Amino acid sequence: KALRKAVIAGNWKMNKTPAEAKELIEGIKPLVAGAGCDVVVCVPYVDLATALEATAGTNIGVGAENCHWEVSGAYTGEISANMLTAMGVKYVIIGHSERRTYFGETDVTVNKRVRAALDSGLTVILCVGEYLEQREQGITAELVAMQTKIALQGVSKDELSRVIIAYEPVWAIGTGKTATAEQANEVCAIIRETVKGLYDEAAANAMTIQYGGSMNAKNAAELLAQPDVDGGLIGGASLKPADFAEIVKAAT
Ligand code: PEP
Repeated sequence: KALRKAVIAGNWKMNKTPAEAKELIEGIKPLVAGAGCDVVVCVPYVDLATALEATAGTNIGVGAENCHWEVSGAYTGEISANMLTAMGVKYVIIGHSERRTYFGETDVTVNKRVRAALDSGLTVILCVGEYLEQREQGITAELVAMQTKIALQGVSKDELSRVIIAYEPVWAIGTGKTATAEQANEVCAIIRETVKGLYDEAAANAMTIQYGGSMNAKNAAELLAQPDVDGGLIGGASLKPADFAEIVKAAT
């Protein structure tokens, strides 16, 4: 664990106008300036320019919340990975459960987006995780392993340094129901085993695997202390500078 980079990433979802984004980043900046982990804010497309400007020269990286798999073309309403890199964006969330649930994202389209993002030079935050019914059916391990395997199809070992995996149990996202530290660690370890099976032990040991799902200032330290949890993807709490900073502190 000591060898891996801890990454705390905010996922703002569909929140904040550009003016509000600037205000939020100005609030976060001084609180995370001395962070011992990597800090990222993933923001709506329309906030990217503002976020890049507001974070210039700081330790905060900027990410988008999705990207399309084609470079350009007749895809009304979509944004390509190379459009993001051209702006200076460094990260992109792919396969968030809200995209899978509400926008028809599948493991196959997740894989296409991962490939496009890596081809453009972005670092991917790949989200995997089970619904409550799947956990109750006892298929969490198989499901998360399958999501990971399909998402990483065609990804070389060298490219893995630009892949972060976020384990996000869907029942814990935005619900206030956090996975226990043991549950989070157990599935993060399964994902690491899956990466080991696909590549090798060194690749698995180097992979940053985050937990996400109602992580907050209170529960972050216990979750982040787990041996296979290397950071967090933070929704609600990333919109509150003091809470986000507290989570960053817990990761360092
Ligand atoms: C998320 O959207 O990735 C997330 C973890 O949300 P929340 O922290 O609000 O549960």
